[in-house]
Amino acid sequence: MRTTPLLPLAPRPYGDELISSWQARVAARYSRQSADIEAWLGLDSSTDNDFDPDPTSVWRWSRACRIRPAVVEALALSRNAASLGYVRQSRWRGICPACLEGDRRNGRDQYLRRHWSRAETVACSIHRVRLRFSCLKCLRRCDFRYEYRDGLAELICSGCMRAVSRAPPSHFELRYAGLLIATMEAIDDAEKGRGETKLADIRKAIRFLWSGSVNHGRPEITFFGVQDIKGPASIPVNVDAPLTCLSMTWRSSTLLTMAQMLDISSAQSEFGPPSDCLTFAFQQFEKNITSSQSLTTRSSTGKKSRIDLPPRSNSKYFRAVAAITKDPRWHAISTLRGRQRSIALSRLARSLLDLLEG
Ligand SMILES: [Zn+2]
Ligand SMILES: [Zn+2]
Repeated sequence: MRTTPLLPLAPRPYGDELISSWQARVAARYSRQSADIEAWLGLDSSTDNDFDPDPTSVWRWSRACRIRPAVVEALALSRNAASLGYVRQSRWRGICPACLEGDRRNGRDQYLRRHWSRAETVACSIHRVRLRFSCLKCLRRCDFRYEYRDGLAELICSGCMRAVSRAPPSHFELRYAGLLIATMEAIDDAEKGRGETKLADIRKAIRFLWSGSVNHGRPEITFFGVQDIKGPASIPVNVDAPLTCLSMTWRSSTLLTMAQMLDISSAQSEFGPPSDCLTFAFQQFEKNITSSQSLTTRSSTGKKSRIDLPPRSNSKYFRAVAAITKDPRWHAISTLRGRQRSIALSRLARSLLDLLEG
């Protein structure tokens, strides 16, 4: 049996930390990457350490760091409900520089919060800024890693090695931050069954925005123009939970557009109402969803559409098969090929059915 090696020094995970963040902090203690520690522990490098991590991986990491595996398992995203899901790729997540600066000033390691992975989280409601996803110095996108500086783990840009959190918020990070936070709060209220907007309406609006328009096939969101976004907008892979497959920029745009559609926090006073054409398209989308849902309900609760025929007796089958095997027309079927064989088989099946019915 393999003995798991022990690490002499390993930071503990925070209760609201991503598993991958904790693992990266452990690795940074030894000036390594998480993949190096995984190789040392005899693990294949995993692409999913956060959502539903492999139990063997959790066990070996926990054992090496002398932590109970249950403590690490509890951090898995799959163990923590999120009504709109979690973004699945680290490059689509953001960080709040002010939260990280707070960590450093309080003499603790910086770490990535679990709720920054929630699909609707695009801003920090404590510090009223949009989450940062690129280095403000070299503009490298979503490529951060930990380094130990002055005895504390600090998130740095892999490109220019500058501390990510120390640059003050940019103009972009402040723009619409208040409205984005109000929209996130409306989602939170809806999730808890309070507030004016229902969770079903929020889901419906998001699905509509990422459905293909009837005339062009492009996602409907591209016709709203709430934010001018560079880069391609394609229909996300998960059409039921589009936000889980979108970059920070497109998720922010989705939330702002949804705020306009549902007039969350008086967003229409900022953006104006959607055009009649888009309002009509949304109404049609809602109608189609409702009718497909009622069809599903009807088929699951209504009368059986299949007609159940009473089974025929064995003796009837035996008589039919005996009659067929005596008929010389069918003896040559095994020698036929292709289309001729198909035609002969279907005639045989028809004869068999006639005999059974007779
Ligand atoms: Zn913050
Ligand atoms: Zn940089």
